[in-house]
Amino acid sequence: MSKIIYLDNAATTKTAKEVVEAMLPYFTENYGNPSSIYSLGQASKEAVTKSRETIAATIGANVSDIYFTAGGSESDNWALKATAEAYESKGKHIITTKIEHHAILHTCDYLEKRGFEITYLDVDADGVVKLDELKKAIREDTILISVMFANNEIGTIQPIKEIGAIAHEKGILFHTDAVQAYGQLPIDVNEMNIDMMSVSGHKLNGPKGIGFLYIKKGVKIRSFVHGGQQERARRAGTENVTGIVGLGVAARLAHDTMEKRTAAERELRDYLIERILSEVPQSKLNGHRTDRLPNNANFSFEFIEGESLLIMLDMKGICASSGSACTSGSLDPSHVLLAIGLVHEIAHGSLRLTLGAETTKEDIDFTIEAVKEIVAKLRSMSPLYEDFKAGKKKSIIDENY
Ligand SMILES: *Cc1c(COP(=O)(O)O)cnc(C)c1O
Repeated sequence: MSKIIYLDNAATTKTAKEVVEAMLPYFTENYGNPSSIYSLGQASKEAVTKSRETIAATIGANVSDIYFTAGGSESDNWALKATAEAYESKGKHIITTKIEHHAILHTCDYLEKRGFEITYLDVDADGVVKLDELKKAIREDTILISVMFANNEIGTIQPIKEIGAIAHEKGILFHTDAVQAYGQLPIDVNEMNIDMMSVSGHKLNGPKGIGFLYIKKGVKIRSFVHGGQQERARRAGTENVTGIVGLGVAARLAHDTMEKRTAAERELRDYLIERILSEVPQSKLNGHRTDRLPNNANFSFEFIEGESLLIMLDMKGICASSGSACTSGSLDPSHVLLAIGLVHEIAHGSLRLTLGAETTKEDIDFTIEAVKEIVAKLRSMSPLYEDFKAGKKKSIIDENY
């Protein structure tokens, strides 16, 4: 296969070489069950403990507050369903936002069918939650606020510490889906008033199918999987030892390299944004200009379909996304792009490029040229663009954004 330019790191990332190397012995010689008494089992148990310690240190948490799960979706499901159940005698109202990942939104649908009431907060045009609206949404029976740390599509970072403070002032629990933020942004769960936090390994150069839920001591959350005593009997099942080892190494690497790596990504991201916006007419950036993930750029191009753009980029070896991986294949525009106020035509012409540690300036230059060429080609086939050129139709982007 010819060279691939991988610009879809928000969908998943390449497992780091060090991560794979650290995992391998736990498939082969160290295959013991962590619950076994003999030393083969104890070696696995020690590896799990070490990983838990490494991870706890990255977010300023107690070691016993880290619970391994099968990834971001499971952590989100657990946080919402189990707190809903544990606190329903106190109230049945939950506050979240319109721009959450489907792991949150679809869990909220499930809870609504079971008698919970959910408030979905609007966001502003940059994708930021409005704190005054959050305050207004709080009721006597509100038990949980769940707001994502940073958005997977448009990259916007939320004022997490302030949201947590608002929740705590009213004695309400605060959960955040930090799947995109962890490893990209410094996080301190105590300083940021976070009671529960979801993380996934495969978004930070770790393996797929492993993640964790941080649950602050004292939060009354029900067990998610019933069975053995693993994860303090809250999430039973023999530990995914290889995955846990891989996640621990990925977490350490991500935090050791964070400052340098994200500084380089920010610089490339800004170069990409600058050039696309100035060299492609009728284009706009989605998400906050500065309060955004270091590796995220999301654009809308008028008069084209994002899907066609993706297919033509793929022919040039460029992996990108037009929204979240979960929504491609569906004809509805992304709920996130609609929530920031884009009309359907503009939302349909969107492109998400998410950089990684290995992305080079050459990759970005090649991608910019490819985007320019493909957008021009697609527009040349668009009757709407013809009308625009003939002065019969105005540009929505030029008029509104
Ligand atoms: C990827 C992602 C998830 C889901 O994580 P999985 O480990 O793939 O289940 C949840 N939330 C956000 C914000 C994500 O980006």
